[in-house]
Amino acid sequence: MAKLRVVILGAGFGGLELATRLSLAAADDVEVTLIDRSDAFTFGFSKLDVMFGRSSADEVRVPYREIEKPSVTFRQELVTAIDPVAKRVVTDSGSYQADVLVVALGADLDPAATAGLVEAGHEFYSLDGATRLASVLPSFESGRVVIGVMGTPFKCPPAPSETALMLHDYLVRRGRREATEITVVSPLGVPVPPSPATSDAILGAFAERGITYLGGQTVAGLDPGRRTASLHGGGELDFDLFLGVPLHRAPRVIEASGLAEHGWVAVDPRTLATPFPDVYALGDVANAPVPRAGVFAETAARVVAEEIISGLRGGGQVRPYDGYGLCYIEFGTEQVARVEVTFITASGPRGGPFTPPSDAVAREKDEFAASRLQRWFGRAPAPV
Ligand SMILES: Cc1cc2nc3c(=O)[nH]c(=O)nc-3n(C[C@H](O)[C@H](O)[C@H](O)COP(=O)(O)OP(=O)(O)OC[C@H]3O[C@@H](n4cnc5c(N)ncnc54)[C@H](O)[C@@H]3O)c2cc1C
Repeated sequence: MAKLRVVILGAGFGGLELATRLSLAAADDVEVTLIDRSDAFTFGFSKLDVMFGRSSADEVRVPYREIEKPSVTFRQELVTAIDPVAKRVVTDSGSYQADVLVVALGADLDPAATAGLVEAGHEFYSLDGATRLASVLPSFESGRVVIGVMGTPFKCPPAPSETALMLHDYLVRRGRREATEITVVSPLGVPVPPSPATSDAILGAFAERGITYLGGQTVAGLDPGRRTASLHGGGELDFDLFLGVPLHRAPRVIEASGLAEHGWVAVDPRTLATPFPDVYALGDVANAPVPRAGVFAETAARVVAEEIISGLRGGGQVRPYDGYGLCYIEFGTEQVARVEVTFITASGPRGGPFTPPSDAVAREKDEFAASRLQRWFGRAPAPV
């Protein structure tokens, strides 16, 4: 019998996890083509390491050529058109016919959509942006730093708070903290709304370190001449250094595909199925009621893998997506906290256990990353 052709668009957190699961569970029955425009994967959180000089850009890039999995072929190509009815995909160097198509293209950043951001600010959400900042931060001596979010949705909601805590630490190490002010502007009223314990811990750490958190606000634009950031709710903030989280958008190829609804790919939140038969979407590009973060893309990939395998094997119960994620949060001084959250429950998002920052959780985060590199790329396990 011919193998089921599964074409996965995007080899990020979600696409890699899905390809891995299909290869492990059904290599004899599926033929997976995994397509990404890039030649390497980077964890989102590695950008913070690069920005603060803990790693170089080269050290955090994981080349896709390392992928060697039964029944998985990686192609480095740019997806230029998607036909969800015919399940056909066009790239800059060919076309692919799928039996099952999975869109995992993530979210693109759009710094140019905010007036003044490119001219007067720095974004730290791309590897290039983080790399540029790694050479800007060492010469920052004094003044006001604003870490500002431009709008929702945005990847990894705790990341601006992590950035503030890591920046504090960085400036203390350089003996420049007394000469600086740090303010975080975020649309979230508190840093991690479904987990009051996590929010309290972050806000407590901010209070101890003299960091200001302006919740429920987003940055509308920057005035390069006056070096001020205007807020959507009214008011302005002066800055000497602006670290921005740009507006996010679905990759452009989604717009023309007919998959977009309110800018993102519409899915059934329990199955990640789109309205088009045998077409799924997961991760940041999908309009599921979960935050944009790798851990949610990963748990969504579990559901889509089970859906595909269940279809192959003639049905069977698939545990619906519950929007569960386990997040690690950097607190500075190389310490990390952990929180579990479940977003899709009958009573709405629910915070799970919060583990305060420690060296032990920092080691656990390292193991989390190493285990993904082992699982997705076949790298050696982390030394115990
Ligand atoms: C600073 C920062 C810190 C973060 N920290 C965390 C964290 O601690 N924990 C966590 O879980 N998440 C974190 N994230 C978020 C996380 O990185 C993303 O949410 C996650 O990568 C989303 O996974 P995804 O598979 O949906 O998309 P992605 O991982 O973004 O993958 C999408 C892929 O699609 C490819 N692509 C896009 N368009 C095309 C095209 N037209 N043709 C071909 N390929 C294309 C891209 O190259 C990319 O490789 C962080 C993000 C940032 C920026």
